[in-house]
Amino acid sequence: MHTDDIYRQMGISSQVFTFCTQIEADLKGRFEAIDHTAEYNQMKVIKAMQDNQVSDIHFAATTGYGYNDLGRDTLEKVYASLFHTEAALVRPNLISGTHALHVALAGNLRPGDELLSPVGKPYDTLEEVIGIRDSAGSLKEYGVIYRQVDLLSDGSFDYEGIKGAINEKTKLVTIQRSKGYATRPTFSVGQIGDLIRFIRQIKPDVICMVDNCYGEFVETIEPTDVGADMAVGSLIKNPGGGLAPIGGYIVGKEACIDNASYRLSAPGLGREVGASLGLNTSFYQGLFLSPTVTAGALKGAIFAANIYERLGFPVVPDSKEDRHDIIQAITLGSPERVIAFCQGIQAAAPVDSFVTPEPWDMPGYDAPVIMAAGAFVQGSSIELSADAPIKPPYAVYFQGGLTWYHAKLGVMMTIQKLVDKDLISLDHSQRSIT
Ligand SMILES: *Cc1c(COP(=O)(O)O)cnc(C)c1O
Repeated sequence: MHTDDIYRQMGISSQVFTFCTQIEADLKGRFEAIDHTAEYNQMKVIKAMQDNQVSDIHFAATTGYGYNDLGRDTLEKVYASLFHTEAALVRPNLISGTHALHVALAGNLRPGDELLSPVGKPYDTLEEVIGIRDSAGSLKEYGVIYRQVDLLSDGSFDYEGIKGAINEKTKLVTIQRSKGYATRPTFSVGQIGDLIRFIRQIKPDVICMVDNCYGEFVETIEPTDVGADMAVGSLIKNPGGGLAPIGGYIVGKEACIDNASYRLSAPGLGREVGASLGLNTSFYQGLFLSPTVTAGALKGAIFAANIYERLGFPVVPDSKEDRHDIIQAITLGSPERVIAFCQGIQAAAPVDSFVTPEPWDMPGYDAPVIMAAGAFVQGSSIELSADAPIKPPYAVYFQGGLTWYHAKLGVMMTIQKLVDKDLISLDHSQRSIT
């Protein structure tokens, strides 16, 4: 049995298989570097678990108030060890990344305080949290003032502008690591460290928080290793390893985590309550798998970048760039290609592969949106998924893959769909979209 036979059974033609695997062959060096990072991070995770004496008693479920939930408390110590912080909140009752970010912000800001984003507009869902778009219950309604300094046109930090924006009221600086679904570059942990050092020179006691979504385990260091007081993320992205069915985390200074916990549960209760309801095993096991899962997703993103760049499509990051998150943007230039791409991702899924995604008018968006995901956990974007607004320049955002082989099949299936619909040609691959 040859590998190309099984791919043919999966619906990949030998032409597509050959085209894609030739490109894969050139990526050996890149993939090796990713494996090294995964190996390092795997050891970091095991060490954090060993240092905190993780044991099978920690997998027991708690209910009700969740007092003395040993599994929860130990998991939080594991996260604190891993991120080199004093404390952590890692819980199913942090229901998403947005919720965790809200809890971290709302817990640490008081009326009259200023919140500064020195990296331009934050992720869409944060706009309503902050009150950039008016929203009931936003930080703005509670008297928190928001300031933003945009990046310079080359994507670098506007140090002069940042200096000018920091004042006696500035309490918390929020730095988003991943570009999310914007066009700016994603920051490396090193760049975030430079920014934090600069901010600390101007105002030493300001709280620096990093939105770490999609960035965990992409490098061997995390923002909390370069001075961040808090880092925040979602467990249905990288650190949940695909196994966490819900959850978020906040790691950082004890005082910051305490403040966040009084917002998550209630003043006076804080971290002492919050039953884990039997989910601890999947949190531990997902974290254990996360370094290799993240590596698989990264390989998929690099594979896609190289294939689509060879076909002449603009890709961000490009085929050669270092990676600081797992998201790949590909500008396909037409609605038909975007739809075919998403249908390829869906057709490659282990779940709901028989479903055909179509664009629809989602609330809150100004254009129809198409989404492809055949995931074990609803909405999980560490699992192979793609989405795109149907509007110029017709870019698709693609991320995840619990294993490299699944990501590889997904990317090949997108090419297959495009070829089948005559939307690209592999014959003259350098000039296929003239
Ligand atoms: C996904 C994401 C969020 C929000 O997380 P959800 O779990 O979808 O609420 C925030 N910031 C960034 C950069 C993200 O990628």
